[in-house]
Amino acid sequence: MGCPKCQGECVEQCNWKWLRSPAGRKHFPLKLTLSQRRKLRFGRLLACDDCGQEWFLDESRTMLYLLEKDQLPLFERWSRRALRVPAAIRPKLAAIGATPPDLYGNDKEFIWIPCAAKFKKGGWTDLALISLQKIPPVSGLNYKKTRFLDEVADVRPSAYAVPRDVRAVAAKSEEILNGYQPTFVSTSDGKAFTLVGTVNFVKYRNVKGRDIRLRGEGFSRSGQGMTTGERYVGITLIVGDWMKGDEKLRIGK
Ligand SMILES: [Zn+2]
Repeated sequence: MGCPKCQGECVEQCNWKWLRSPAGRKHFPLKLTLSQRRKLRFGRLLACDDCGQEWFLDESRTMLYLLEKDQLPLFERWSRRALRVPAAIRPKLAAIGATPPDLYGNDKEFIWIPCAAKFKKGGWTDLALISLQKIPPVSGLNYKKTRFLDEVADVRPSAYAVPRDVRAVAAKSEEILNGYQPTFVSTSDGKAFTLVGTVNFVKYRNVKGRDIRLRGEGFSRSGQGMTTGERYVGITLIVGDWMKGDEKLRIGK
């Protein structure tokens, strides 16, 4: 018995810093059997000496991420190539603006820019979520399609992306009920619409992200109308490296 996995204390990811703290050790007295396999450009690859399970430990040595067997090909591709933002597309990404983390710090480890992207091999996709990050794409988010930033030839605004002023306000929305963090908006034709949590894209019935507006003063908060959270289906996640200064791409920075 050795790592959080073989000791049954961790499923997908765990807070390694806490597990190794005095309080964590008291709750989960783990025998430490993880050793370093190799250093990566961010963080390091560890493996359990007992069961062989591989893990990614982030650069700040805080979070430990389980590497499932079916995630290893993506992990290997991520680990072997630099994925910096190309100079040619940086101004376009800055104009679109990255979605800030919410009031509670959810998703603060990602710089997300919803856009349309053109791949070097193949055409445009209108649901491209560029994600600059220091961790591999293994975090258990529900994206079916994952690509890398060095596959991208060009970007442009997407009709399905939520406008930057709406995303800026949504980032400041409070959780008023458990799991319910609403932003009350409307469609361009005046219908009530509610976004729940961080929403980068809207492709919902006949509503596109660009149709979403902040509600003016006096709009009824009746909760009527359509509600959506992020719908992962159809979104292509495009992973790039979060280099120093990239946080300036965030709206409000
Ligand atoms: Zn183990």
